[in-house]
Amino acid sequence: MSALHHYILPAGNVQIAFSGGRTSAYMLHQILEANGDLPDRCEVTFQNTGREMPQTLDFVAEVGRRWGVEITWLEYRPDKPFFEIVGRQGASMEGEPFEALIKKRNYLPNQQTRFCTIELKIRTAKRFLMSLGWKHWTNCVGIRADEPHRLNKPKPRERWTVWTPLADADVGKQDVAAFWKRQPFDLQLPNVRGNCWLGNCDGCFLKSEANVAAFTRDYPERAEWWERMETLIPPTKGDACTFSKRYSRAEMREYMERQGDWALSTEGALCQADDGECTG
Ligand code: SF4
Repeated sequence: MSALHHYILPAGNVQIAFSGGRTSAYMLHQILEANGDLPDRCEVTFQNTGREMPQTLDFVAEVGRRWGVEITWLEYRPDKPFFEIVGRQGASMEGEPFEALIKKRNYLPNQQTRFCTIELKIRTAKRFLMSLGWKHWTNCVGIRADEPHRLNKPKPRERWTVWTPLADADVGKQDVAAFWKRQPFDLQLPNVRGNCWLGNCDGCFLKSEANVAAFTRDYPERAEWWERMETLIPPTKGDACTFSKRYSRAEMREYMERQGDWALSTEGALCQADDGECTG
């Protein structure tokens, strides 16, 4: 039997969560290969936080165009119905949905309290799907076989059941990389050992200290947004006024201004470990 049988759509309504990365785009490709045009009971969604790199937004648009698949671009809004359908042209590029959420909550997300994933991605998609009249559905997410830490999470007590066809098909990082080598287009962000460190929100607090440092040095105008968010929350809020317990973004910038290349080329100067992944 062809490996494509893993990608046959289950019965009922199906949400295909497209993160804008290479892995979930590959998953979408395989689903299209296995099923042909998607039926109306299927929705491909991309939730834009406003902090995606422009290359990611272009990639999402290009996937839709080249593969002839309708992708619904969604953004969080702070007022009812709490989401808006946008497109590549109308997509926020200055962190507007994320900033609106931070102002509404009046504290910052961090590794322990990841309300950004929940509100900007998970609930935004849920609100949209419920607006279509969906009551229960399958949520198809791009988790690979080589990500057991993401696979073995407790099942959400939610309206959806999770479907991970890439893991079922035993797809790993190398398979995804090999696929993109064969394509006439690609996400225009670097792939470092199978990891796209500029994917998802550009300065995400789940990225390693070393990645946040490189981002601060290489994209100062984008890093400024993260530093500004930390000034929005009064210092009386303790841990909730910085994205990390270990450093503020102003401290990171000052450190990079002083140490710069030395800090990045010296092994161990900055923590290299990621703190997880945004699974919206
Ligand atoms: S990528 Fe990071 S900052 Fe963005 S929504 Fe996900 S956890 Fe939050």
